[in-house]
Amino acid sequence: NEVNATQCINKIISDVKHRNKGDEEFHQAVEEVLHSLEPVLVKHPEYIKESILERLVEPERQIIFRVPWIDDEGDVQVNRGFRVQFNSSIGPYKGGLRFHPSVNASIVKFLGFEQIFKNSLTGLPIGGGKGGSDFDPKGKSDREIMRFCQSFMSELYRHIGPDIDVPAGDIGVGGREIGFLFGQYKKLRNANEPGVLTGKGLHYGGSLVRTEATGYGLIYFVNEMLKAHGHNLGGKRVVISGAGNVAIYAAQKAEQLGAHVIAMCDSDGYIVDEDGIDIDLVKEIKELQRKRIKEYAQRKPNAKYFEGQKGIWSLKCDIALPCATQNDISIEEAKLLVENGTIAVGEGANMPCTNEALNYLLQNNILVAPAKAANAGGVATSALEMSQNSMRLSWSFEEVDEKLQNIMVKIFNASKEAAKEYGSEGNYVVGANIAGFLKVADAMISQGI
Ligand code: GLU
Repeated sequence: NEVNATQCINKIISDVKHRNKGDEEFHQAVEEVLHSLEPVLVKHPEYIKESILERLVEPERQIIFRVPWIDDEGDVQVNRGFRVQFNSSIGPYKGGLRFHPSVNASIVKFLGFEQIFKNSLTGLPIGGGKGGSDFDPKGKSDREIMRFCQSFMSELYRHIGPDIDVPAGDIGVGGREIGFLFGQYKKLRNANEPGVLTGKGLHYGGSLVRTEATGYGLIYFVNEMLKAHGHNLGGKRVVISGAGNVAIYAAQKAEQLGAHVIAMCDSDGYIVDEDGIDIDLVKEIKELQRKRIKEYAQRKPNAKYFEGQKGIWSLKCDIALPCATQNDISIEEAKLLVENGTIAVGEGANMPCTNEALNYLLQNNILVAPAKAANAGGVATSALEMSQNSMRLSWSFEEVDEKLQNIMVKIFNASKEAAKEYGSEGNYVVGANIAGFLKVADAMISQGI
């Protein structure tokens, strides 16, 4: 069985590489997950017999479309739009939209693939999908953002719906963009279907806590993991990469639980504030003024600014929270973290560690809270937003926050149990992959080929 499982996995990986030539991020995500599923295949040969992995790595549907829009000078611009509807075995496709110049088929597929397992881990009925565009929101006016979003939705609307596919935000897509996208969807459909998008504003069907959910959820998960190993967040030095939605609310919750957040960054450079990062100031600079993190050091005399983003990992910390983007921590950064005596790494971004870095951290007994589990609070709260939309009511902040906390604790326990059952106790990376996989695989078997 073991030989069989290894051969099967290697064959699928080589097929994926052949079919998705040059899509390196997608190859990386598939390799990471498939290798961790080996003990599952050994124990359950039915997954091999039913070709579950072969089916899992091929998206159910991929949509690529032209997005023409008019800039403030009156010139026509053209971008490329994507939506990958990866797996619908446990619910409608669900996952964010990323607007960033780096977006291509590989990025969207890796994110959609990760989303399948993450969404399964939430325990809620949501399948996996992802989308986006190579549009760069940086420096664009509100009107340009609006025209782009309207054009993007003019094609996307025919592929989505509250019971079909439910997009949300990701990098470059926040409340403002979701508002414009929703306005256009409503116009084209001539129906008010709030459940078609999540991350909506509170005055038209959004959920309390959705904005904070990914960051808060990350800290709830990390806290649970630390507790299981006799640690806690009190007085810990925390370094967070990123200064977007995930990073900001992770920092806020970490500080609320007694940790000391000393550094954050954006794609230009990082700030260090030994007094503890002033989250309200970061929010003002990044969310309201949409400026660079450099501003922070100009306004805080005790803070320092350093050019370059990866240097943040040379800072000594107890807990490292990569909350920026993929492949932020490669082997060099992983070595620095180990040398500096880091206790835990909590992945707020999707796939922020290379596979080599991940293995190195685990081999050196660093606790790793893997993205699929640790950042699932965002999409879980999106699913709670969908529930509230279906019921035509809204829950209080406390009610949603309590549900989020329970979900994160359950995800931690499921990852812990699966790791133990399949012979990798304490390895939550493997545990999360296995726990997320099992539900999807069984749903696929039940529904036939
Ligand atoms: N983009 C987020 C993620 O990576 C949230 C997706 C959602 O809420 O649908 O999980």
